[in-house]
Amino acid sequence: MDFERIKEKLAILADAAKYDVSCSSSGSNRKNKGKGLGDSSGMGICHSYTEDGRCISLLKILLTNHCIFDCAYCVTRKSNDIKRAAFKVQEVVDLTINFYRRNYIEGLFLSSGIFKDADYTMERLIQVAKKLRLEENFNGYIHLKSIPGSSDELMQEAGLYADRLSVNIEIPTVSGLKLLAPDKNHEDFMKPMNKVKNEILRNREEKKILKSTQKYAPAGQSTQMIVGATGETDRDIMYTATHFYRNYNMKRVYYSGYVPVTTDPRLPALTSAVPMLRENRLYQTDWLLRFYGFDIRELLNEDHKNLETDIDPKLSWALRNMQHFPVDINKAEKQMLARIPGIGLKSVQKIIKARRFRSLNWEHLKNIGVALNRARYFITCNSNNWEKKDLTSERIKNLILKSSGSKFSKNYSPQLSMFDT
Ligand code: SF4
Repeated sequence: MDFERIKEKLAILADAAKYDVSCSSSGSNRKNKGKGLGDSSGMGICHSYTEDGRCISLLKILLTNHCIFDCAYCVTRKSNDIKRAAFKVQEVVDLTINFYRRNYIEGLFLSSGIFKDADYTMERLIQVAKKLRLEENFNGYIHLKSIPGSSDELMQEAGLYADRLSVNIEIPTVSGLKLLAPDKNHEDFMKPMNKVKNEILRNREEKKILKSTQKYAPAGQSTQMIVGATGETDRDIMYTATHFYRNYNMKRVYYSGYVPVTTDPRLPALTSAVPMLRENRLYQTDWLLRFYGFDIRELLNEDHKNLETDIDPKLSWALRNMQHFPVDINKAEKQMLARIPGIGLKSVQKIIKARRFRSLNWEHLKNIGVALNRARYFITCNSNNWEKKDLTSERIKNLILKSSGSKFSKNYSPQLSMFDT
């Protein structure tokens, strides 16, 4: 093996893969049954993140950065004058096993530029996963990108060896895709996504009847959208995401702030900042939809097409809907407690548990971990007296921003503070 050449390929193809953020691996449960290498169950795979929020514990590479397409937003596009490389199937297998043995990684995230055609590329990605599973007895996590336009047969096979499959929609609207990737067809994305969804559902049913049925993509499917490459509103982005969650059984939708890679009149200038805060607000909205019981139309609609950057989407909703407040902390339903700014789901559970034994006061809430600098404007607690009733939404917002110091206006890293709002 030519180690220098492998090293060079690794540098090129790992660098090219860094623009893909859809590499979270939660939800897999491929157990090592005594034989074989690796175990993706409960190992905390993919729980490490770089400073900008990207996950780092998988070997994350492209099979090749040669591509027959010319998507304007992509560093791998054929017209870009960059160094190109391609791994052989066996080279990726060997790298994965060697890195795994050294404890550098817990799995593989494998994507690729499209060389020759979609099926030709997809076949090679599958070969890597198949060899790892069948020849190396590898039980670690495998996330394979599905190549848009791949045939149903290949998508069916891919799910037998990969834990997760994902097709990146990349551009949230059909018109945006036409503008930046005119060679691509919206249907080419939907077809493999649909196949994976149907196979997952079919596999679930078969397993109910026959326990020994081979698993199909046990960690489900995900997709990624680039944020800020075209003029889509946050409403456009989140309506597309909601459509995927509802109709394609999507496990996760990832939002990736556009990193300027080229000078092109269709794209933001090369000097534009990556919209990290916007990306963070979209993740928060996604979280509110999936876990806090919000409907997309409550958070984004015709009158409110974009999320505020200075306040989080839950606070924004509360300030636009003051008719729902104050909420009595000692009596309110769980769903309503979760809608109060400053109260996360963990605090909701603690409040429900604690109020069985006593009527809660401000001190109790503070000990529970409620962010009172936000919550106090929206609740009553052990008294009917709502002190803040004369304040306007605008005034409340200002007071909260003031009491939060720079927290809301600072361009902080995504994924750090989105889970307990
Ligand atoms: S097909 Fe994929 S890899 Fe090729 S240019 Fe488009 S986005 Fe990049």
